[in-house]
Amino acid sequence: MKYKPVSNYIGEELIKGSNGSLDVLSPIDGSIISQVFLSSGEDVEKAVQTAREALPSWAAMPIKERVQIFFKYKQLLEKYMDELTNLIVEENGKTYAEAKAEVLKSAELTEFACSMPQLISGELLQVSKGVECREERYPVGVVASITPFNFPNMVPNWTIPNALVLGNTMVMKPSELVPLSTNRLAEILKEAGLPKGVFNVVHGSREAVEAICDSPGIDAVSFVGSTKVAKIVYRRGTSNLKRVLALGGAKNHLVVLPDANVKMTASNVAVSMTGCAGQRCMAASALVGVGPIDHIIEELCNEARKIIPGKNLGAIISAKAKERIENYITEAENEGAKVLVDGRNYVVEGKENGFYVGPTIIDYVKPEMRIAKEEVFGPVLSIMRVDNIDQAIEIENSSNYGNAAAVFTQSGGAANYVAERASAGMIGVNIGVPVPREPFSFGGWNESRFGVGDITGKSSIEFWTKIKKITTKWNPESQVNWMS
Ligand code: NAD
Repeated sequence: MKYKPVSNYIGEELIKGSNGSLDVLSPIDGSIISQVFLSSGEDVEKAVQTAREALPSWAAMPIKERVQIFFKYKQLLEKYMDELTNLIVEENGKTYAEAKAEVLKSAELTEFACSMPQLISGELLQVSKGVECREERYPVGVVASITPFNFPNMVPNWTIPNALVLGNTMVMKPSELVPLSTNRLAEILKEAGLPKGVFNVVHGSREAVEAICDSPGIDAVSFVGSTKVAKIVYRRGTSNLKRVLALGGAKNHLVVLPDANVKMTASNVAVSMTGCAGQRCMAASALVGVGPIDHIIEELCNEARKIIPGKNLGAIISAKAKERIENYITEAENEGAKVLVDGRNYVVEGKENGFYVGPTIIDYVKPEMRIAKEEVFGPVLSIMRVDNIDQAIEIENSSNYGNAAAVFTQSGGAANYVAERASAGMIGVNIGVPVPREPFSFGGWNESRFGVGDITGKSSIEFWTKIKKITTKWNPESQVNWMS
């Protein structure tokens, strides 16, 4: 094993989870690179208590001082860029370029958090003669952040800098499939000067998550993962009267019109469907072609064939996930869809035990097929053909999800028509992966997000803080009136 077994990180100490262990595999070659100890409810409670003890002094520190630690943290993310990138590659299996983009994004997320003092200064108004009302933001308290396997560095950093800069202390529960990156982030936070107990990590799976949802010591829970688990966490957390924001899965539709720029559309769609091997909630999953678009599909297939597993296409997280993806393709084929580019049964030379699926494009998919409705989470694109733009919008709107949608056209009017009607939180116009950059916030609609607001950017401030309103009267002469 290349890495030491992974323990919980609680108050700067490494403490083994007591609920068994799992092997950590490299998706690239299937080898065991580490082991992770899973946590019981009691293990989680230790972390919660530690975060509670650290809360009063951290919350009392002026935000301008807290921010200084995150200026340092950003510098350290940049300093350790190569090491952090390689760690992501090993435990997640994505390409070096994709992994590096994660760390760069983490630095950008931290840069945004460093601007928090400029963003959260409250309001003050003389509300009647001699009477002032002012607003101040306070941390929610001890918060939990539960994260998925597909971005081991970036998704933790969706919550770490903003929540901590705003004065909360945290218990993070990363995916048990990729536990290594989060512990390394904990060490880097310590190096940046974060006080003991402000950031804690518990490893584990279902039992640890349930303990987080139930713990009376946790005030708010953020979750990023599948819709199935997002619903469980949202229901369980809110039934325990916690503030919960739970981001779920996705099924992103790209509407392609015949006038779209062929080269730009083909390369954007190919990158969107294959980036991170299709294992990202912003991936293109369904292309809805309006009218004659064969010329664009032909070019798209050419682009897709240039994307080679093990070279510029990363691995799938597990053997089970590879099987699930291939089953979707085979089922669609059996139901009459036409596989134009086939990535099934792909073996990378020298990495025969790795988990790979090549780019796959399936034409003539029907909206009622399972592959058209469900999240496949692999480098697979389903093409549906319609006659007009309203039929395309109807397909997009019928999805339970609503993370992202995009339109490819050279007509501004048509682009606006789709952008206004798509039922999704993030819209791309001639952009296949419309991730909003800071200070804009990240979050979907419908079953891609439960709770109010988004997880990053300005919108996250509402989630991580509560507002106090202070009304003051210093002038004894001030008039008594109807609202005194
Ligand atoms: P997942 O839902 O399986 O796991 C997410 C977290 O929940 C992990 O920490 C895991 O340990 C925990 N978990 C798993 N099963 C559980 C259960 N039964 N009860 C309680 N906790 C449980 O998701 P994943 O496979 O790690 O990640 C992929 C999913 O995440 C995809 O659906 C993807 O679309 C979604 N995702 C969404 C966004 C977004 O912004 N909306 C971002 C990234 C990933």
